Amino acid sequence: MQRKIPLWLFSLIVCVFYCATITVIEFSDQPVNDIFSFAKTAMLYSLVSVASWGVFSLLSVSRRVFALLCPPLMAFSGAMGYLGLTIGSRVSETSIEIALGNDAEMWFSVITPGLAAAILIGLAIGIFFARMRWRNVVSTSRQRWVMTIAGVIITIGSMTASPKIIWTVGNRLPYSLYYCFNLYLTNKKEAAAVRTTYEHTPALAADNAPDVIFVIGESLRADHLPMNGYHRNTLPKISDDSLLINFPDIYTGHTNTNIAVPHLLTRYSAQKPNHAFSDQSFITLFKNAGYKTAWFANQNLTKYYSYFANEADSLIYCNDGKSIFHYERTLDTDMIPPFRQWINEPDSAPRLAILHAIGSHWWYPTHYTEVDETFTPVIKHKEIAGLSNEAIVNSYDNTILATDRFLAELRATVNQRNAIIIYMSDHGELLGEDGCYLHDGNQKPLHRPAAFVLPTATYAANFPQVVDSLRMSASTPMSATLTFHTLLSLGRISTPALNPDSTFLSGRPLR
Ligand SMILES: [Zn+2]
Repeated sequence: MQRKIPLWLFSLIVCVFYCATITVIEFSDQPVNDIFSFAKTAMLYSLVSVASWGVFSLLSVSRRVFALLCPPLMAFSGAMGYLGLTIGSRVSETSIEIALGNDAEMWFSVITPGLAAAILIGLAIGIFFARMRWRNVVSTSRQRWVMTIAGVIITIGSMTASPKIIWTVGNRLPYSLYYCFNLYLTNKKEAAAVRTTYEHTPALAADNAPDVIFVIGESLRADHLPMNGYHRNTLPKISDDSLLINFPDIYTGHTNTNIAVPHLLTRYSAQKPNHAFSDQSFITLFKNAGYKTAWFANQNLTKYYSYFANEADSLIYCNDGKSIFHYERTLDTDMIPPFRQWINEPDSAPRLAILHAIGSHWWYPTHYTEVDETFTPVIKHKEIAGLSNEAIVNSYDNTILATDRFLAELRATVNQRNAIIIYMSDHGELLGEDGCYLHDGNQKPLHRPAAFVLPTATYAANFPQVVDSLRMSASTPMSATLTFHTLLSLGRISTPALNPDSTFLSGRPLR
């Protein structure tokens, strides 16, 4: 006769196994090198483990439910564990988008012998546990009720507690299956929303229509650029370009990516304060003018701007759905190969590209390589309380060197074209002002994003009056809300949607 085990012990065995394998892999990229970061990671790991037990507790109440769900969960987790260890992939709304967008041929190219083995091993383990639940577990009705109630409290609690707990648990298996799929569906819904602002607005391209390359930067504050008096040369490759025009005094009222990005893309209107969440962007106007448009995503899409990314003819993910919530390296130079391929496609349509950069996003060391680790010492873990201000600033400045490298490569890619690059950071960053860090505050550096344009020689020769106007107005204090009209103006688009008095060319102070 086989030994019987109680239900609670069985669910605990499955949970411990899961957390010792899959959860450990998901935490393996956490930077840990001192007592602060170790304690924090141990706390988060424990939180995810307890939350996971809620799921396994619920699953194991019924042996039929367990037999049905445990094998596919283990097979899927095996696949994600393998992908996590080999290419740093995680379940995220972007990886779900990419996976569901793949065709059969693409899927076959992704499935390697190692991945197939991981799926089979996961499946075998799932079947083993299902068999154990079916044959060896004893339980009374009362025990099943207790397990159900405990499971419901823990799972619902994990998904309705503080945003930080939801974030930590929701972005990790097994919860990420639900949480990220939900985010994916929300993004889809926003992207499919009906917006008709410029559907029938006429727009005409210029005779020698230029390519317009709009880089949305991340957390780059203006005062850390050499052109704005910073003592370090954080842009060694592009700052002495004689064609670069710098805007030292741009103001933004939005200090969070989700709100700032939609405002950069849409027409500001005091009468319609919600324009950024109900209007189409300038992308549709460029399309109406015959432009070929693409959005290069180096950040996960969120519901706040997934509409705009899908407004473009092509949406190109540049980092295989890696999540910014994890700690694999994500570099903006990864956008260059797909961008180069797209812009060199053999058709004559002018191009509008939006490149959404990861830039200087926290955690800084994941956004530059050893080549750009110029300013040292750098930060080694993410617990700000245990880091020196010097190391934080050094790491931040190294991300700007990586942005410089990216922009230099971008410039080289379009150098022979009639093109203009516009760089706008979504907002600034705090580096210890009033003891504040990241972009949670209201201090001045947050509201002063880096902004500059970089025309090619051909663009400058074709549109000298544009370049002159930009130079004349560059030092005027202006608002980031002018970006919409500025982009249309730099693209020389003729359309009634454009207000020529509301651009960076007009030099009108606006707050
Ligand atoms: Zn941002």
